[in-house]
Amino acid sequence: MKTSIEILTPKTLTEILGILSERQEILTLIAGGTDVITGLKQESKRFKDTEVLVDVNHVPELKEIKHMPEKITIGAAATFSEIYNNSIVSNELPILKKAVSTIGSMQIRNRATIAGNFVNNAPCADTVPALLVYNATIEIESMNSKRETYLQEFLQGPYKTQLKKDEVVTKINIPVPTKSFTGDFYKLGRRRAVAISRITLAVLMELKENKINKIRIASGSVTPIGTRFPELEIFAMENDVNDNLFKTLASRMGEEIIKITGLRWSSAYKLPVVQQMFYQLLKGIERRSL
Ligand SMILES: Cc1cc2nc3c(=O)[nH]c(=O)nc-3n(C[C@H](O)[C@H](O)[C@H](O)COP(=O)(O)OP(=O)(O)OC[C@H]3O[C@@H](n4cnc5c(N)ncnc54)[C@H](O)[C@@H]3O)c2cc1C
Repeated sequence: MKTSIEILTPKTLTEILGILSERQEILTLIAGGTDVITGLKQESKRFKDTEVLVDVNHVPELKEIKHMPEKITIGAAATFSEIYNNSIVSNELPILKKAVSTIGSMQIRNRATIAGNFVNNAPCADTVPALLVYNATIEIESMNSKRETYLQEFLQGPYKTQLKKDEVVTKINIPVPTKSFTGDFYKLGRRRAVAISRITLAVLMELKENKINKIRIASGSVTPIGTRFPELEIFAMENDVNDNLFKTLASRMGEEIIKITGLRWSSAYKLPVVQQMFYQLLKGIERRSL
């Protein structure tokens, strides 16, 4: 690990943007540091040029969680503990609440932030499937620009995103889900705590007159990055709801994953588990929707 790294602690967003506009090639943003510090210690190529860390934790607006009329906004530097304990998240975003509750340990959740999770974009980033089914968008700023993009478009590949060196993620926007939606999140790890996900699934759906009126399905870990399944979602909405539909969906989920990843040594184990997890998720959501 490098022996000396400068740490800057800007107090406003404008200060962060000013710093990023000037010395971007040697700068790395740091929030909770649970990925950055590990990466620096392991001499990861991603952080090889880092000479200065810019701490985003001292800007209050990057921590706010707000309920607007149409959307919920979550500050990029909100920690998982802050998100878990927030009443807006508890009332409106139960899938996200469940996803953050599975992350690391209490100590990690007290430090680690939501933007750090999806900017790092590990295949096993647990908030990603939850944010994908909520159709989350993210706001990104640099000194000279401000843009909003769907999280799905922002994520480009394992550990790769659209983020440019002079940009910072400021917030996550989630359209307020209607009350007719029910959903769930499931994580499979090798143990119950401080476990890297092997498989994560998130589903949000609305049942109406024995049909799936709307459904959003996302996975993590079992695909190279968090992914939605548009073809499966369309198929799900064309058929009557019954046990057969759920079994067919579970089987097709397996096929979709193989399409993305190809057959691997772990497929013999992961596929039936994904299919069973997905079936159980759908059955559970159906039960709670009735
Ligand atoms: C012991 C341990 C257990 C873990 N368990 C889990 C787990 O169960 N599930 C899981 O998903 N992850 C887990 N992680 C990984 C990690 O905790 C998460 O990915 C976390 O969300 C990273 O957030 P952070 O604030 O610590 O990010 P940091 O390490 O500070 O930053 C990560 C990346 O995001 C960038 N970044 C941070 N904030 C911004 C911003 N506002 N704008 C632009 N770029 C930004 C940084 O430059 C860096 O590239 C674990 C890590 C450890 C060490």
